[in-house]
Amino acid sequence: MSAQSSSAPAPKDATAAGNYFVSNYPPYSVWKPEFTADVRKALERLPAPGTPLGIYVHVPFCRKRCHFCYFKVYTDKTSTEIKSYLDETVHEMEQYARMPFIGGRKANFVYFGGGTPSYLSSEQLFELSDGLKRLVSWDEAEEITFECEPGTLTEHKLRGIKKIGVTRLSLGIENFDDHILEVNGRAHRSKEVQRAYDFARGLGFEQVNIDLIAGMVDETEENWKRCVEKAIELEPDSITIYQMEIPFNTTIYKEMKAQGKLTAPVADWDTKREWVRYAFETLEARGYAVASAYTAVRDPKRTKFIYRDRLWQGADLVGLGVASFSHVGGTHFQNETDWESYLARLNAGELPTKRALTPTAEERLIREWILQLKLGRVQFTYFDRKFGGNARERFAEPLRRLEEQGLLKVSGEGVVLTRDGLLRVDGLLPNFYLPQHRDIRYV
Ligand code: SF4
Repeated sequence: MSAQSSSAPAPKDATAAGNYFVSNYPPYSVWKPEFTADVRKALERLPAPGTPLGIYVHVPFCRKRCHFCYFKVYTDKTSTEIKSYLDETVHEMEQYARMPFIGGRKANFVYFGGGTPSYLSSEQLFELSDGLKRLVSWDEAEEITFECEPGTLTEHKLRGIKKIGVTRLSLGIENFDDHILEVNGRAHRSKEVQRAYDFARGLGFEQVNIDLIAGMVDETEENWKRCVEKAIELEPDSITIYQMEIPFNTTIYKEMKAQGKLTAPVADWDTKREWVRYAFETLEARGYAVASAYTAVRDPKRTKFIYRDRLWQGADLVGLGVASFSHVGGTHFQNETDWESYLARLNAGELPTKRALTPTAEERLIREWILQLKLGRVQFTYFDRKFGGNARERFAEPLRRLEEQGLLKVSGEGVVLTRDGLLRVDGLLPNFYLPQHRDIRYV
């Protein structure tokens, strides 16, 4: 008997399994293998003048798989396998650099994500970055972000990370309590956080961000408040807070399924929202400004997040590595999602594209609209100029409904989300989707 049929319904607002966070539009489930021919066509054209180009490098290695993780990661690869993977990501970049759409352009931003980019040794990192820089220059990049797991950082490695040009270091702390880190399967402990943070500050990185998750397994209100306090004591340039979700391919979901449970063993959504509200209010009282549904920044004039802002404004992005997502000239695509197929396609001299979608003009408008709403405010003139038409009229009906619910305010200039709206932004975005996309699973 399936877990679905053997259990009582999950209580209202309980954290059930599934994806809550919206990272793109139209949903990935409508990207298809039969549309991959669009990718080559897009790459054979010339880019629209003035469109920024970003590079995303997926480093899919971790010391351990966290129980809530839904990313494509490997914990068992040898150094020889890692080397061949990194060589292939450079070969992948070589293929793009030969195409008219990319050749000769300079990167405006670079993002090393994962997985755990800081799992790489300094030598691996130098080899990878030298190989990529030879193909597409980073010398004018406004931002180079590098995600780190605190337990993988030594001062020596951080020097290497600085040397390749990283300007924005992002530390995946998630929680400061060792018990919570352990029961959620994190590899690092709190002692390593302080050490890594001190090294990073000592080396003078331009920006240091720390990530926290509200509502991990065993989190309590008291502990969450302590976490917020500790985060503030570190004085990072930005603090990013995600609300814990349990997608279907996580260890936690597998355990729920085996036990016939529909409710995840974490706080319900109301509680998680209240914890993030508390964090934002406390941060604001200490001089931080809330810059998006997930981020508070210490100095809004100085602290930027170019990768996020450019992507949400339709920048081109070449995503290298297994399962990576790209966006070139209006076509979205994702790479092969398993190790063997990714490497085999590159070895055969092909681009490793698995599925693609070229959205219509209306879908592109909706995509930018919903992604920018995550910043907490949008301006009508931006959309009217870029997409033509009248965004206020186009979205009048959902705006009216959401305004009545107290989730946003509409003015002559644009839309501002209330704090309630901001804290549940991912849940309200489907109100702006085309009807055929409203009920499909976001994978
Ligand atoms: S460190 Fe990040 S990518 Fe790696 S297993 Fe944990 S959540 Fe996943």
